[in-house]
Amino acid sequence: MTAARLELSGLAKTFGNLPVLGDLSLSVGRGEFVAILGPSGSGKSTIFKLLTGALSPDAGAILFDGVPLNDRRPFAFMPQRDALMEWRRILDNTTLGLEVQGIGRAAARRRVAPLFAEFGLAGFEQHYPAQLSGGMRQRAALLRTVVQDKDMLLLDEPFGALDALTRADMQRWLETMWSRHGWTTLLVTHDVREAVLLSDRIYVLSARPGRVIAEVAVPLPRPRRTGATVAAIEAGILDLLLSTPTEGPER
Ligand code: ADP
Ligand code: MG
Repeated sequence: MTAARLELSGLAKTFGNLPVLGDLSLSVGRGEFVAILGPSGSGKSTIFKLLTGALSPDAGAILFDGVPLNDRRPFAFMPQRDALMEWRRILDNTTLGLEVQGIGRAAARRRVAPLFAEFGLAGFEQHYPAQLSGGMRQRAALLRTVVQDKDMLLLDEPFGALDALTRADMQRWLETMWSRHGWTTLLVTHDVREAVLLSDRIYVLSARPGRVIAEVAVPLPRPRRTGATVAAIEAGILDLLLSTPTEGPER
């Protein structure tokens, strides 16, 4: 594996008396695509909140390039809901992350405009989010995320709200974009096939409190397509998930 960019060791988080993460350790190498796969409620979104600084861990360490995280976070984060602002045009939605960084709107527009074609959004700059399909909304949200030019992408179930066909389309599209750009990426998902199709490595989480029950390498060439090999890896992971006892009902 390449040298670790991101390294989490022994992360733990409890809300009130609900332990959500227990002793979670994982790493992501430079340019690697890694997935965290776990059942709903296993603390996946909480991991991202700890990374972005929205929450602090009760225990454990987060290192980036070998150094503890400070106030300047190296992540471009795409939240679980696409979080587009319905009253802003798509162009002005995609500049939001840059504006938050203090870049003026005109400069931000110059930065995002050339990316619209690559993201399949050319001609939709002046549309409002409600006028776009679900897949286009997700591409707009991803454009807003990657244009921030951070060291690493954090994607929280980016395709979770899409229908199966659109999701398959978007997975292929993300695979192409990732192969072209080499983004260091951490993807959170509860979709086993999605994890297998997209990732170099997969960390499989237990039910709450989430901890790593397996690390699965996916040594398949890209572009990947569903077939016997993918199905076999998928089946192995499902067996793992189903054979790990759950810790009580989701809430
Ligand atoms: P996942 O993303 O894997 O579905 P989450 O990280 O969103 O799971 O949540 C894990 C558990 O923690 C859930 O049971 C959720 O209800 C609970 N939880 C998440 N955030 C909070 C919070 N701020 N306060 C209390 N409980 C929370
Ligand atoms: Mg979540």
